[in-house]
Amino acid sequence: MPKSPKATDRELAELVLQLGRVAYADCGAGGLTHGQWAALRFFSRANRFSRTVSAFADYHATTRSSASQKISTLVEQGYLTRHRSQRDGRSTRFELTRPSLKLLQDDPFKSVVAASQQLTPSTRDKTVQCLQQMLGELSTLRGCGVFGICDLCQHLQIIEAQSSESFACGLLHEPLEREETHMICARFVP
Ligand code: SF4
Repeated sequence: MPKSPKATDRELAELVLQLGRVAYADCGAGGLTHGQWAALRFFSRANRFSRTVSAFADYHATTRSSASQKISTLVEQGYLTRHRSQRDGRSTRFELTRPSLKLLQDDPFKSVVAASQQLTPSTRDKTVQCLQQMLGELSTLRGCGVFGICDLCQHLQIIEAQSSESFACGLLHEPLEREETHMICARFVP
């Protein structure tokens, strides 16, 4: 019986890169630049503690000033709104608007999501864990933050009651809605 081919570390790294290139091939859709799409996607996926300029800059490995410029343009275009943070009253949080939510319905990135739906749930889970591990290694090497979802974070607290469960963040001491536990967070600890 022929042996199945073993992928090399280099092949895996190049596939990750190629996937990224293909994912960005449709940039320019809806009249937005690649960077503006990246910002809208980030704000649609980030939890309420992470919808800030600095979190977006860290997530996209870019500078604060470049992130700030992209976000300001989106605010001017009516795709994001600024809000004073309710937690500390100092930082500024950004929210999507109705036009940006409408735009995101036709996000070209959906074709990448559809491709991932072809994987079985267990393959998808393993792939997520492997890529998360690779990201963690790179983030440690480059000294930048790691992002992830509550479901995979050591600070997630699950409070079980008789017939229901609720969630909280042990780090930020805040209750979490079920949907929020699937959102990405700048304070994530794997
Ligand atoms: S549990 Fe972890 S990922 Fe979720 S909000 Fe808290 S720090 Fe962030």
